[in-house]
Amino acid sequence: MLIVPEREIADLMTREAAFDAVEKVFAAMAARDAYNFPVVREAIGHEDALYGFKGGFDQAGLTLGLKAGGYWPNNLEKRDLINHQSTVFLFDPDTGKAKAMVGGNLLTALRTAAASSVSIKHLARDDAKVIGMIGAGHQATFQLRAALEQRQFEKVIGWNYHPEMLPNIEKVATEAGLPFEAVKLDGMKEADVIISITSAFAPSLMADHVAPGTHIACMGTDTKGKQEVESALLAKASVFTDEVAQSISIGEAQHAVAEGLIKESDVGEIGAVINGTNPGRTSADQITLFDGTGVGLQDLAVAAAVVDLAVEKGIAIEVDF
Ligand code: NAD
Repeated sequence: MLIVPEREIADLMTREAAFDAVEKVFAAMAARDAYNFPVVREAIGHEDALYGFKGGFDQAGLTLGLKAGGYWPNNLEKRDLINHQSTVFLFDPDTGKAKAMVGGNLLTALRTAAASSVSIKHLARDDAKVIGMIGAGHQATFQLRAALEQRQFEKVIGWNYHPEMLPNIEKVATEAGLPFEAVKLDGMKEADVIISITSAFAPSLMADHVAPGTHIACMGTDTKGKQEVESALLAKASVFTDEVAQSISIGEAQHAVAEGLIKESDVGEIGAVINGTNPGRTSADQITLFDGTGVGLQDLAVAAAVVDLAVEKGIAIEVDF
C-alpha cells in the first residue's frame, strides 16, 4: 500500500491536475460509469465532532474508495490543528486490497475549486471580464485562484458578510495582477461570473442582484438548511449540478424545489454538458447556475491523481499491508 502524507500534497498537486481529474469524473458520472455511495455523517458525541464517509466507484477511471473525516470544532484552539480533517483511502477494484492512503485536507479545497472552475469553463460566457466573489473564508481563496485561469478576467469584485475578511480575496486578485473592488450585493450586477462560497443559512444574493448572461457557481451549500442565493434566482436560471440527488436534498436547489419553483427535472448534470449530451448555455443573456454540492468521487479522483504524481516523483511511502 502507498501512503501520501498531507505534508506532501501542496508540492505534488497542481490546479491543472485537479481540474482534469474532476472534469473527467463528472463526465463519467453523467455517462453512468461512476456513482457515489450514500453519504454517512454523524455527530459522534465526542469533542462536538461531525464525522462521516463519502465514497464511490468510478468504473471508467477504476477508482474505488472513500474519504473519511469531518469537522472537529475544538482542534484549532486546543491542539493547534485545523478543524476540518480528512483522509482518502483507495482500494484495488480487482481485489479489494487497500491501495493508498492520502491526506485529504488540501485536496478537499483543490477539488472544490476545480468543480466551480469546470462549471465556468463549460457554462460561463467566453467574453466574461468581471468575476464576483461572495465569501472570503478558507475556500474562497482557492476558488478565486482556480477560476481566474478559466477566462481573461480583468477585475475582481467581492462582498462578504464579515467585511474584515475581504483582504483574503483581495490578496489573490493582487497576486494575479487584477484590480479588486469591494461592492454592495447589488454591485454584483457588474459581474459576468459569480462564485458564492459561504456557510450561510439564509440567502445573500437575490435574483435582482444578477445581470442577464451571468454564470453563478454556488459552492457553499452542502447541508440541509444552508442557503446562499434567493430561490427565485434558480427559477430564473438554467440550473446544473454535480449530482442531482444531492442538489435537491442538501444543495442550493433544495429550497427552490421545496418551494415548488423548480422541479428535479429542471436540474441538469454538469457531466452531461461536458459529454455534449446537454447543450448547457444556449444564449448570451441566459443565466446559468452551478449547484456544487461536493461528491465523494471528486475526492477519489484527485487522490488517485496525487498518488500517480507521488509515484512518479518517488515520494509515495510504500508499506507492506
Ligand atoms: P470559512 O469558515 O473559512 O468561511 C465562511 C464564509 O462564510 C466566510 O466568508 C464568512 O464571512 C461567511 N459567512 C458566515 N456566516 C455568514 C452568513 N450568515 N451570511 C453570509 N455569509 C456568512 O469556511 P470555508 O471553509 O471557506 O467553507 C465555506 C462553505 O463551503 C462551508 O459552508 C462549507 O461547508 C462549504 N464547502 C463546500 C464544499 C463543496 O464541495 N461544495 C467543499 C468544502 C466546503
